[in-house]
Amino acid sequence: MIGLISATAAGEAARDRLAAAWPERTRVYDGPVADAVRRAFGECEQLVCFLATGAVVRLVAPLLADKASDPGVVCVDEAARFAVPLLGGHGGGANALAGEVGEVLGARPVVTTATDAVGLPGLDTLGLPYEGDVAGVTRALLDGEPVALNAEVAWPLPPLPFTGRGDRRVRVTDRAGEPADGEVLLRPPTLVVGVGASRGAPVAEVLDLIEGTLREAGLSPRSVAELATVDAKSEEPGIVGAAARLGVPVVTYPAEELAAVEVPNPSAAPLAAVGTPSVAEAAALAGGGELLVPKRKSAARPAMATCAVVRRPGRGRLAVVGLGPGARDLLTPRAKAELRRASVLVGLDQYVDQIRDLLRPGTRILESGLGAEEERARTAVAEAREGRAVALIGSGDAGVYAMASPALAEASDDIDVVGVPGVTAALAAGAILGAPLGHDHMSISLSDLHTPWEVIERRVRAAAEADLVVTFYNPRSRGRDWQLPKALAILAGHRAPATPVGVVRNASRADESSRVTTLGALDPATVDMMTVVTVGNTATRIIAGRMVTPRGYRWQEDSK
Ligand code: SAH
Repeated sequence: MIGLISATAAGEAARDRLAAAWPERTRVYDGPVADAVRRAFGECEQLVCFLATGAVVRLVAPLLADKASDPGVVCVDEAARFAVPLLGGHGGGANALAGEVGEVLGARPVVTTATDAVGLPGLDTLGLPYEGDVAGVTRALLDGEPVALNAEVAWPLPPLPFTGRGDRRVRVTDRAGEPADGEVLLRPPTLVVGVGASRGAPVAEVLDLIEGTLREAGLSPRSVAELATVDAKSEEPGIVGAAARLGVPVVTYPAEELAAVEVPNPSAAPLAAVGTPSVAEAAALAGGGELLVPKRKSAARPAMATCAVVRRPGRGRLAVVGLGPGARDLLTPRAKAELRRASVLVGLDQYVDQIRDLLRPGTRILESGLGAEEERARTAVAEAREGRAVALIGSGDAGVYAMASPALAEASDDIDVVGVPGVTAALAAGAILGAPLGHDHMSISLSDLHTPWEVIERRVRAAAEADLVVTFYNPRSRGRDWQLPKALAILAGHRAPATPVGVVRNASRADESSRVTTLGALDPATVDMMTVVTVGNTATRIIAGRMVTPRGYRWQEDSK
């Protein structure tokens, strides 16, 4: 819950706007301000105070306990011009909250946390449990001092300016142990604990077994990703309770699936009870990985629980990111976040230039020229399979005549893939032309580099016969000049010469230009590779200079 506190009429007005925008997330604290702040501080995860920073500093100072548990506090000034994260920038989520508050109120977030200011991700913001000298090591990274990275298990980290050596280091490890001086331990969720339990096994017995097993094997409980068991045990209180205490989910598998997993220690008892010769080992191994600890029984007599531990390799991450047609404000916030999340960026050089300023320092850029599609796709997938966080970029939507398909054709299921949609050229052009795509439409690429012309021509004919609005991508280049006239002639066989045609060059870029003409009047020589051409259907009209395809023909008539 976010507690809202204000003292003045202007503050109240801003407070009410926030409360109206987020009715589920916020609670208004009325009454004397000092008292309201105290109550909210004790009851909420976050506070937004419509008060001067000085006043809030004095009010919260006596309440501060520690960074891990104090709420995040954001101050907003009288005129709602600024949102200042005062406390708990990372852990308390105040930096992110200031951004959100800024969007609602039109206020500018004033973030003073050093890592955010220079575009470095803080070691405490990676979404991984951490131990050790986060402040000291982050400081060293910021100051450009050498910090070594020691990744015992691969994990897709965002870019951080590590050097090969240094007194300070970051260790990515699932091994137990305390951080040394000047060291930060990051705990990736690489361990899966397979668990079997007889009906009624006590939580304490299951938990003791798991914790004891991890301790003896020298593994950190903070790296446990999940408990795994058989479907029949999905509600076994001992397992559910132990998972809750460890703060991890329970993942279950059908008995037949577990019976098919090869394990070192099968036995007759679970086969009779639940239909698989192994629960703990098989469930731990079902998602792949390396068996670190074979089946062990609990110490109680009779033993009611078993467990086994598997290490799953860290999965790399491939984000396939559409950058939109060109303008920065048509690049989605999600695309921006993925660009900053990646430690490796793969793309065509001219697209890399489009977003280079958004990349975090330390991002490895693998750029190549036109025509190297297959190689770019292979590189991106190979980098992700090494366990890295990779962004593969394309203009418009990366799935439309672009990199997503060659990349995913290469990718195996051992990496995570995230797709971020972008505004494709047909949509960017449509918005400039008016409403040409108001009814059924299709896109056709006229590039016969990788597609035989017969196939393209068949599709143009089909579009002509079906009276679809058509947007031509890759319409014409120096070496390919006869395809567009040919395609237009096919459409002209089914549409009048007065059919509207929109031509948009460099949509949303600095030298954008567009015009609306007709099938009869279009001069193909005015079209190049930076252009899309949208041909209307038999119902498309030019109204006030804009191209309009009626939304529904019957609907239009009815409303006449
Ligand atoms: N993935 C891209 C398309 C790649 S094919 C997308 O979704 O938009 C390349 C063709 O797209 C170009 O030849 C041109 O026809 C079209 N195109 C891409 N960006 C454009 C823009 N900003 N303005 C006009 N056409 C564009």
